Amino acid sequence: MSSVIQLLPDHVANQIAAGEVVQRPASVVKELLENAVDAKATDIKLIVKDAGRSLIQVIDNGLGMNVIDARMCFERHATSKIRHAEDLFSLYTKGFRGEALASIAAIAHVELKTKQEQDELGTHIIIEGSKFISQDPSVLPKGTSFAVKNLFFNIPARRNFLKSETVEHRHIVDEFQRVALAHPTIHFTFIHNGGELFNLPSSNLRQRIVNLFAGKTNEKLVPISEETEIVKVQGFVSKPEFSKKNRNEQFFFVNNRYIKSGYLHHAVMAAYEGLLKDGMQPGYFIYLDVPPNTIDINIHPTKTEIKFDDEHSLYAILRSTVKHSLGQFNVAPVLDFER
Ligand code: ADP
Ligand code: MG
Repeated sequence: MSSVIQLLPDHVANQIAAGEVVQRPASVVKELLENAVDAKATDIKLIVKDAGRSLIQVIDNGLGMNVIDARMCFERHATSKIRHAEDLFSLYTKGFRGEALASIAAIAHVELKTKQEQDELGTHIIIEGSKFISQDPSVLPKGTSFAVKNLFFNIPARRNFLKSETVEHRHIVDEFQRVALAHPTIHFTFIHNGGELFNLPSSNLRQRIVNLFAGKTNEKLVPISEETEIVKVQGFVSKPEFSKKNRNEQFFFVNNRYIKSGYLHHAVMAAYEGLLKDGMQPGYFIYLDVPPNTIDINIHPTKTEIKFDDEHSLYAILRSTVKHSLGQFNVAPVLDFER
C-alpha cells in the first residue's frame, strides 16, 4: 500500500494560516501597525484606499531591517521577538508568532521598503502570493514601509464576502484607535482616500483620548489609579452622566495590548451599580499592567483574548478601583492624574 500523507508546500500552509490571521482588511492594519510599534517607531503613518480593498500601507520610522531580514520576514514562523518557548512568559512585544507577514504575503501583493539607520542603502522587495517578484537595493529613509494591495486576490470567496466599504472602514478605524490608545506617545497619522482622518501628536493618555474622541471628552474623564502586587491599574472612566447607548468608548489594555473581556467589563459595570440609567454604557479606557508570566495571550491568533492566572482578584481590584474613583469625584474635585 502506498502512503498518502504529504507535507503541504509552504505557500499552501501560509494561505491556510492566513485564513485565521487575516480575516479582513482591518486585520492587516492591526498586524502592520503592531509591527511598527514593535520596531520602536515614534512616527507611524497609515494610508488606506477604499477601506483596504485597493491599498493598506504603513510607514514607520523604526529600526528597519537589513537585506537578509527583509527577505526573511516573509517566512513562516520567522520572528525576531522570541527565541524560546519560555520567552512567551516574559513578553513585551505585540508580535511573537512570526506568521503575520507570511500570511499577508500569501494572499496579497506586498511591497516592502526598509532601511536601517547605519546602512547606506535599503531594500525594496515585491512579493505576490508568496512569490518573490523582485528585490533591489534602494535609496530609502530609515524605517519601514509595507504596502499591501489586492488583498485576497487568490481567495475570491474572501474577497467577495468582504462587507460594505462602510463596515470594513469602521473595522479599520477601530484597530487604528486601539493601537493609538495603547501608545499615546507615538505620533500617528491616518489618511483615507487621500484625506487626513487623524493626526495624533505625541501626547499623554488624556490628550490622546481627547484627540481621538472629539467633543466633550475631557470633562467626562475621571482618572483611575491603583497598584497592588498582582496588577497596576491606570486610565480613565467616564462620569455616569456622560454614559451612552453604545459601547464604542470601552477599552481594556493589558500590558499595552488591546483585549476584549466580558468578565472585566462586568467588573466595571458592577462599579457603576446604581449610577447608570437602564441600558446606558459608561466609557472607559482602562490599562492593566500585570507580570507577563501571569497571563496567556496565545489563545487565539489575533491575540485579543487573554487568560489571567487570577481573574477573580483582578475583578475585585478593578471594581473597587473604579468605584472608589467615581465616589471621589462626587465629593471632591477631580484630581488630575496623567499617565
Ligand atoms: P512577529 O511580529 O510575530 O514577529 P511578523 O510576521 O509580523 O511576525 O513579522 C516578522 C518579523 O519581521 C518581525 O519579528 C520583525 O523582525 C520584522 N518586521 C516586521 N515588521 C517590521 C517593521 N515595521 N520594522 C522592522 N522590522 C519589522
Ligand atoms: Mg507582527
